[in-house]
Amino acid sequence: MKSFFKGVRKHIGKLDAATLREQYKLVSDEFDFFETVFRAIKEGIIVLDEHGSVTYCNPFAEELLGKGGVEQLGVVPGARAKKELTLTYPEERMLELQTMPLERRSTLVIVRDVTGERRHTEEALVAAGQSAVRDLAAGVAHEIGNPLNALSLNLQLMARERPGDELIETCKHQVNRLDGIIRDFLQALRPGKPCLVPGNVAEPLAECLKALKVRFEEKRVRVILDIPRALPVVAMDRNQLEQVFFNLFKNALEAMQDGGTIEVQVSAKDMDVEVRIQDSGVGMDAEQLKHLFEPYRTTKTGGTGLGLMISSRIVREHGGTIGAESEAGKGTAFTVRLPRIEKRIRTLK
Ligand code: ADP
Ligand code: MG
Repeated sequence: MKSFFKGVRKHIGKLDAATLREQYKLVSDEFDFFETVFRAIKEGIIVLDEHGSVTYCNPFAEELLGKGGVEQLGVVPGARAKKELTLTYPEERMLELQTMPLERRSTLVIVRDVTGERRHTEEALVAAGQSAVRDLAAGVAHEIGNPLNALSLNLQLMARERPGDELIETCKHQVNRLDGIIRDFLQALRPGKPCLVPGNVAEPLAECLKALKVRFEEKRVRVILDIPRALPVVAMDRNQLEQVFFNLFKNALEAMQDGGTIEVQVSAKDMDVEVRIQDSGVGMDAEQLKHLFEPYRTTKTGGTGLGLMISSRIVREHGGTIGAESEAGKGTAFTVRLPRIEKRIRTLK
């Protein structure tokens, strides 16, 4: 169909009135057809212009977004991105957002209501988490953790005595991998509601960066920080946020084979505090981005595909949003937004 219209467009100057009328009817029928499809479809479809203003919005998108409209989605025009968020009004809904650039600098946004899907996954995990097998599994995982720590410590000591020894490096790498698997596994099994207290997001971030310092150095990754001294307070569970940032940094590290940079940018917005973690790693293609945040989706041998699911759950339970923008070969940026306790009221001019 597309090539047919392209053909018509090419020769439009040479068409007589009757043919033009005929072609116009074809186009208009086609338009009606798509309009009907877009009206019936159970996915929100929104098109934004280069400034982020809505040029098209199908009925399901209107229904999903209610009065708050598109503004509450925080879409960056022109980006290829995926995002998860929870709307609390008029009822709690979990939404999945995909944005992609279109021709003429507009942006397509597809919104899916994943409330049922996510609840189902979480209920399944909780159910699995309540069984005796889970306690056994968690117990075993925990028990494996201790000797792993001892192994890791001893390997570090050995590495100091014999720097550059390949066998030691391989062992270290494998121990780190096991450690990661067990960490993800335990986090997925033991969700635990966040215990929210007022705090500064820079603290769990700094804690994480400190813990990972050696790994950044080992992989020749430069970390660039842009964190304001004073930040508005957010309601947070410090330990859980540390887990989120740890997962994001770990993924960023794993996405970089041959060194690179990670930029950490924290900024205060009117309604929330935003943490952006951008890496110069392998990035993701559209297909990977589409399935991001879904459990057990991994592209790594030895990955669990649980890290981002856990992170997204934690951020959502903080009332925040998590999203990613990525391009294969260029890198990835994850953005976590956490609601401020005291919003800044903007006076209307
Ligand atoms: P895992 O790390 O165990 O694979 P995650 O849930 O943490 O599980 O990540 C899921 C997948 O998302 C990864 O396997 C990877 O393909 C992709 N991914 C996540 N973060 C990044 C990143 N910073 N750069 C490139 N790909 C990423
Ligand atoms: Mg991971």
